[in-house]
Amino acid sequence: MDISRRDLGKALGGVVLVGAASDARAVDGPPGGVTLIRGGYVMTMDAGRGDLPGADILVRDGRIAGIGRGLAVPEGAAVVEAGGMVVLPGFVDAHTHGAISQMRGLYGNTRETAFFTVTNRLLAHYTPEDTYIGMLLSAVESAASGITTTADFFDNVRDRAHAEAGLRALQDAPVRARLLYGMKSKTDADPIDLAHVAEWQQGWAERSAGGRLSLGLAWRLPQDLDDAAAWVIKAREWETARRLDLPMQVHVSGTVPGRATAMFDALIARRMLHAGLQVVHGTDARDDQLAALEEAGAGLVVTPLTEHRVGYGPTRIDRFDGVRRRGFGIDGSALAGATDMFALMRLAALTQAGAARDETAVRPRHLLEWATAGGARALGLDAQTGSLVPGRAADLQLVRLDSLNLAGFDGGDPSALLVYSARPEDVVAVMVEGRFVKRDGRLAGFDAATLLDRARQSLRGVRARAG
Ligand SMILES: [Zn+2]
Repeated sequence: MDISRRDLGKALGGVVLVGAASDARAVDGPPGGVTLIRGGYVMTMDAGRGDLPGADILVRDGRIAGIGRGLAVPEGAAVVEAGGMVVLPGFVDAHTHGAISQMRGLYGNTRETAFFTVTNRLLAHYTPEDTYIGMLLSAVESAASGITTTADFFDNVRDRAHAEAGLRALQDAPVRARLLYGMKSKTDADPIDLAHVAEWQQGWAERSAGGRLSLGLAWRLPQDLDDAAAWVIKAREWETARRLDLPMQVHVSGTVPGRATAMFDALIARRMLHAGLQVVHGTDARDDQLAALEEAGAGLVVTPLTEHRVGYGPTRIDRFDGVRRRGFGIDGSALAGATDMFALMRLAALTQAGAARDETAVRPRHLLEWATAGGARALGLDAQTGSLVPGRAADLQLVRLDSLNLAGFDGGDPSALLVYSARPEDVVAVMVEGRFVKRDGRLAGFDAATLLDRARQSLRGVRARAG
């Protein structure tokens, strides 16, 4: 297993992945082993189960086999002491753009250095290797920060080699992931390679890294909503996703006044909302549009960090209380600043209270619900992940409570502490499908220095080619 990982690294011009040690993540092998996580403050994020202080979690074959106090230690089980820590489901990042993660620091908020200007220009000069390193870096940073599921809106599929590079990145990634297969570029004349998507979908079992990966469509509405020719292409993509039973995401957003609500209206008028579709952003959505979304059983993903940064308007999560399937997305670490679900929850909480002029408008646990079970519901993955329930995947994180920024906390409900005070570095351990991908504060199987070096080289090359 390690040999193939090393060969892949070499093929891409440098050894990205390390670790002949047993902690290196298998690429596609079945999860195995028995682990007992003992004595943590367990937040199941399941409405019926609630919190269990001082409880144990038994993990077997990648799944949660039991939760309760004083569980017996099965023979041969590895025991992980979680006393003084919070154990909660891994965060679900329901929408991101992994490929841009090496562009951090380039967006300077001037007209010339604005996000879309810089990104679209540089993405045109990506090689498959740049795609690979960006998407892998994004997934690794996710794992390090407590995210165990990510949905990568992969919309720079310049050719099939780029597609394969993106798939390899997620196969090598330490987290559960959905690859949303998108367009060659963001112009309407460059549609999605639907034949390739269909080919992948047919043989998805071999591509899915043992079921850890799922496939979907990164779908876009026409740039001009009155462009009939573009609609023909978009409708074909939408129908193909429906026929192949693939989930899909679509951006409903814009800084031009009225654009986002017109996009939402187009989806409703054309009866394109359905349970397999997630609307991303929708910050300006009207109540009747949200009601139509809910009636169709569709999902909603909001991305407060990036919505604020590019000026889509304040993300008022209380506006979406009527939507059952809703979650948070990082929306590209380079634009969000960092893959930091704690910062995202904090921003959403502060925006809500600030706008309401009412501190008590916010329930910290509600933010955690959005970031875990809610995101899994939005993606249609809630039977697998997002809450700690026997039978579901062991996708979870351990948060230490003894760092300076958490000082003073002495027990009780940790929701406010996690939302207002915690940081990604407080996540000391992360488990995906029963395997620790982060342990004792360190990533398993990845060397950060090597990744950083590869990201820097990638960006240098892209900028040189872009002139
Ligand atoms: Zn996006």
